Amino acid sequence: MNEIGHFIDGARVGGSGRTADVFNPATGQIAARLALGGASDLERAVEAARAAQPAWAATNPQRRARVFMTFVALLNENMQALAELLSCEHGKTVEDSKGDIIRGLEVCEFVCGIPHLMKGEFNEGAGPGIDMYSIRQPVGIGAGITPFNFPAMIPMWMFAPAIACGNAFILKPSERDPSVPMRLAELMIEAGLPKGILQVVNGDKEMVDAILAHPEIGAVSFVGSTPIAAHVYAEAARHGKRAQCFGGAKNHMIVMPDADLDQAADALIGAGYGSAGERCMAVSVAVPVGEATANALMDKLIPKVESLKIGPYTDAGADYGPVVTKAAQEKILGLIDRGIEEGADLAVDGRAFRMQGYEDGFYVGACLFDRVTPEMEIYRQEIFGPVLSVVRARDYEEALSLPMRHEYGNGVAIFTRDGDAARDFASRINIGMVGVNVPIPTPLAYHSFGGWKRSSFGDLNQHGPDSIKFWTRTKTITARWPSGIKSGAEFSMPVMR
Ligand code: NAD
Repeated sequence: MNEIGHFIDGARVGGSGRTADVFNPATGQIAARLALGGASDLERAVEAARAAQPAWAATNPQRRARVFMTFVALLNENMQALAELLSCEHGKTVEDSKGDIIRGLEVCEFVCGIPHLMKGEFNEGAGPGIDMYSIRQPVGIGAGITPFNFPAMIPMWMFAPAIACGNAFILKPSERDPSVPMRLAELMIEAGLPKGILQVVNGDKEMVDAILAHPEIGAVSFVGSTPIAAHVYAEAARHGKRAQCFGGAKNHMIVMPDADLDQAADALIGAGYGSAGERCMAVSVAVPVGEATANALMDKLIPKVESLKIGPYTDAGADYGPVVTKAAQEKILGLIDRGIEEGADLAVDGRAFRMQGYEDGFYVGACLFDRVTPEMEIYRQEIFGPVLSVVRARDYEEALSLPMRHEYGNGVAIFTRDGDAARDFASRINIGMVGVNVPIPTPLAYHSFGGWKRSSFGDLNQHGPDSIKFWTRTKTITARWPSGIKSGAEFSMPVMR
């Protein structure tokens, strides 16, 4: 049995106490046994971080950047093996796993510019003989708590900017697929990172609570479901930490009557069913505008959904693989039943799907609902599975109002040829990431990623310029030299007049 412990002070260490099984979702078999750590394991990680961080912060940023240049090269060299390891615990296809790794790698490329990104501001002559300047310094020790669905990308979104800024970083990955985060930590050491700067502590709520309560951890980044994001945000604030916490989503795609319906249908299939719908930027609601658009779109969608190819990650021809756990499979199937009870029209029913030769795997056949309404649970809840809901809207204003009124605000898209409609939509919508004829508008590394409403708690986003702000503190220095100082004490408030 493959036993996974923690990665502390530059090496893998064993765990003690509670454990959890890690599954291969393709077969339903146990792939590894994971240690579930707690406060004492975290303490070892913090001790190593405390010892290593000051020297790392004092290392000039160009040298820190070079570690990431080497790390990017190592990721490319190890791409196939990393992708297979990722797929084995997550279930997504190997090609999709490469995308997961590459989206993280791109943030590592972005932070290779850290000498420029961390530059401060300088005002010469802010007063008589006075210069004023602001510098960015690392927070010290940061922590990241990550979800199962992007076990390479999201850890890198967090640790790359944190470490490049001069912090030590403690990662608590998902207990469903911890092997790739452990490999990433090893590769960072191979790339030249001093030990103690990146550590992986495995565990569940107990480890998260220990992180939130630890007085030496100054900043916490979280990605996962909304109830846990809200809890982590509140607890981090209660303990005086800065926090950015990203939650769940229900992403709509509006299809206007003038849209190219073939393009829109293809976009919905890829964005709705790719990665078995287990993406926070997956499109889960299609909103055709007008009955004629809805009927024509359904005619195009139904055969495409029916012919989706499901398979284990080892099948290079599969469109998507199993979902992550048996519990996820049961939850998704339960919600599909609920949709039928509530009166939605299940136009494609994938519930009976069984993967031949992999009967114990966690597969869910593709489902397509029509005539879903905003009151239904399948509309309000994030299903996080291969299920697309179609909500028919009378007109543009009704279509716009649907994502506007939904509690989540991660991503949204509009498909149209009409520039006026697209511009109006992008301007009025209360959602963080907007696509115009782009179904999954995930910003690239040099922009920032984050939703609005209950998809995000905190005011700074992931990667891009926001990440540099999140992982540093600003210090402003006001300086003058003896030739600029007038003699005599000054008792009134200093002002510039
Ligand atoms: P999850 O909330 O179950 O777990 C996320 C992390 O929180 C894990 O590390 C887990 O160990 C920890 N955790 C779980 N329960 C906890 C508890 N009670 N107390 C403290 N910590 C706890 O999420 P998941 O199922 O791993 O991931 C899927 C969710 O993540 C979806 O809702 C998806 O939309 C969301 N997500 C959001 C984004 C985004 O950027 N907004 C990106 C990816 C995924």
